[in-house]
Amino acid sequence: MPKAKETVLEIDLGALTHNFNYLKSKLQPSTKFLAVVKAFAYGSDSVEVAKHLQTLDVDYFAVAYASEGVVLRDAGITRPILVLHPLPTSFETIIERCLEPSLYNAKVLKEFIATAEAHNQSNYPVHIKFNTGLNRLGFWENDVDYIVSKLQETKSVIVKSIFSHLAASEDKNEVSFSNKQIESFKSTAKAFENKIGYKPWLHLCNTSGVINYPDAHLDLVRCGIGLYGFGNSAKEDESLRPVARLKSVISQIHKIEKDETVGYNRAYKSKGFEKTATIPIGHADGISRIYGNGNGFVFINGKKAPIIGNVCMDMVMVNITNIDCKEGDEVVVFDSGYKASDLAESAQTISYEILTAISQRVKRIII
Ligand code: PLP
Repeated sequence: MPKAKETVLEIDLGALTHNFNYLKSKLQPSTKFLAVVKAFAYGSDSVEVAKHLQTLDVDYFAVAYASEGVVLRDAGITRPILVLHPLPTSFETIIERCLEPSLYNAKVLKEFIATAEAHNQSNYPVHIKFNTGLNRLGFWENDVDYIVSKLQETKSVIVKSIFSHLAASEDKNEVSFSNKQIESFKSTAKAFENKIGYKPWLHLCNTSGVINYPDAHLDLVRCGIGLYGFGNSAKEDESLRPVARLKSVISQIHKIEKDETVGYNRAYKSKGFEKTATIPIGHADGISRIYGNGNGFVFINGKKAPIIGNVCMDMVMVNITNIDCKEGDEVVVFDSGYKASDLAESAQTISYEILTAISQRVKRIII
């Protein structure tokens, strides 16, 4: 692998294949696989990720918003795409670009049916979302009669699936809550099927649902973070391979004397003769200011270089006093050794936030 000469996010498609196969190996052969590629495929480049997954036997994609689905359609993605959080302003686009909406309340149900009718659609595939305890989006079980009555008034849409989302599938302390959600979803699904007279697909599990609740895989699973290389325990992480590696380069080295300061607000003061390196990556690239002032570090030639002073918009400065390095050397922010999940832990956040915070100006390189 050539060394980074600028700030790049390397995307390892081999790791993506490995993770996909690993997650698939947890499923019954009949269970379908939906790849969640919202938020630029968790920062990894949704077009490249979706194109690659389309060459594997992925059944479905999901994005949060219609605009994300349009990007995939423009890039030639032909598999079905579920839009998890469509807003009525995007319903025309959804139909024009053959995207499939999640319908989660009376307003979106009515407005989507009206749009489908206005576009002379028949049996347009939609997905009904039920809330079983996450309390974020979704109808309640006692909305079933209302939903079915609305659906029976029209031929313009057909329910391809009904689904819900687990609130704490990764949390071993919340097993009884998750089981309650699973039971409540199954009973809602039964009520729905009985009233509507056909059987839509049922789905509930995200990555940690796949791992922790094998009896709840149902007809389809929706995996995001696992595809990108993270489970929700150190053991699961071992079986997965991080897809993204964030790297940069040393732009400039400074030698400073005792009591000189570094960066904005003069936040760092040297303790003696020291060497610092300036790296072209800052908070505008996704390196939070939380990591400033010694709270974070990068790796240079395998050694930890603490971030000193405040993180700037486009740069960080690190202490390299004890590191043998030169301008132009590669810098690793995270890779498959020091992982995005390790970085997340140091900032009391989660790998999802680290990955999705890498801004679009960071060049993605497919490897
Ligand atoms: N399903 C829904 C509705 C989601 O919102 C998400 C992610 O936020 C997923 C599935 C994928 O979850 P994970 O990344 O934990 O696999």
